[in-house]
Amino acid sequence: MSQQQWRDRYAGALMNTFGPPRLVLTRGSGARVWDADGREYLDLFGGIAVNALGHGHPALVEAVTTQLTTLGHVSNFFATEPQVTLAERLLALLGADGRVFFTNSGTEANEAAFKLTRRTGRTHLVATEGAFHGRTMGALALTAKEAYRAPFEPLPGHVTFVPYGDADALAAAVTDETAAVVLEPVQGEAGVVVPPRGYLAAARRACDAHGALLWLDEVQTGVGRTGTWFAHHNPTLADPVRPDVVTLAKGLGGGVPIGACVGLGDAAVLLEPGNHGTTFGGNPVACAAANAVLDVVEAEGLLEASDRLGKLLADLVGEPEQVVAVEGAGLFVGAQLAGENAAAVVTAAQERGFLLNNTGPARLRFAPPLTVTEADLRAFGDAWAGILDAVHQEDA
Ligand SMILES: *Cc1c(COP(=O)(O)O)cnc(C)c1O
Repeated sequence: MSQQQWRDRYAGALMNTFGPPRLVLTRGSGARVWDADGREYLDLFGGIAVNALGHGHPALVEAVTTQLTTLGHVSNFFATEPQVTLAERLLALLGADGRVFFTNSGTEANEAAFKLTRRTGRTHLVATEGAFHGRTMGALALTAKEAYRAPFEPLPGHVTFVPYGDADALAAAVTDETAAVVLEPVQGEAGVVVPPRGYLAAARRACDAHGALLWLDEVQTGVGRTGTWFAHHNPTLADPVRPDVVTLAKGLGGGVPIGACVGLGDAAVLLEPGNHGTTFGGNPVACAAANAVLDVVEAEGLLEASDRLGKLLADLVGEPEQVVAVEGAGLFVGAQLAGENAAAVVTAAQERGFLLNNTGPARLRFAPPLTVTEADLRAFGDAWAGILDAVHQEDA
């Protein structure tokens, strides 16, 4: 069946929340995917920074297959080995004592964290402009974008938004009523926006001054995306900072849905028996997938690869004169275009076999698999100036 036929069926059967799909994809391998018409693409988008190991990585396939044929689901009335192992490993990687609550998505990890903050006895939260924390009602209450919020108000209340990266504005917003400050160490949906160095440390100080929790949303930046396990560990992004809560999801399962809300120190025990729950969260198959992701990141040196290849990608992306700024860390790169033609650039790139993503009218986000090769990136680099020129000519 052709892409067009699938598109028609899609439109007739799926809710129109996402707009028409860009492509109908049928197969993936490594950093490549194929559409229903058999065309091949280099995936520089990675399913929104999810496919850390690319598509169909044998270790992930093996881990999921073995777990599914061993024990697929039992509910949280029972414990399973992959879940306990994964929680211990995440705490070890975070380098702190704590406890983990597993979820199925990023927004659910943030819902768990939101509820955890309420157990401080305070209700005020400080979040940032440009932030994205998810689409469920609690996470949406922390997401600034008016277009996402307005149709669903009233949302859970008592949230103050401050400009991202402005340490003084943040400090001024935190009071003795503040339960938590929630921050992305690098804003993802905003298009890979890096705050000034020292911002996270300043947020920590503001929280300490008022007994508030520092909650870092690493849903998009976690698990090697920026070249370190977590963006708040990345010396090029931040001075060492100790969060109270870390939320994870996207890259954690390498494409298998899983999220985690990690409470560190005293925050580990704020949620008590009966306070929260989930049927699927911490499912053994999802946890086995995440354990395999952690194994492969270690075994294949993907933190180092993310760091090294990310620098190459940033250089290649920034070369043409139509790109006015590049920022990011590791294989997480945001590019600011001179003109408001990012959507046309994505389309032109797709026609030439490259999947890109625009997060705004003049903003592109690159988040390829951490397994992408130097040759893949150079192939994109060779095509990149031509893609931008083609769009420029259309505009003229
Ligand atoms: C994607 C994202 C979320 C929401 O994750 P979902 O799995 O889509 O619910 C939350 N926070 C950040 C920083 C994200 O990038």
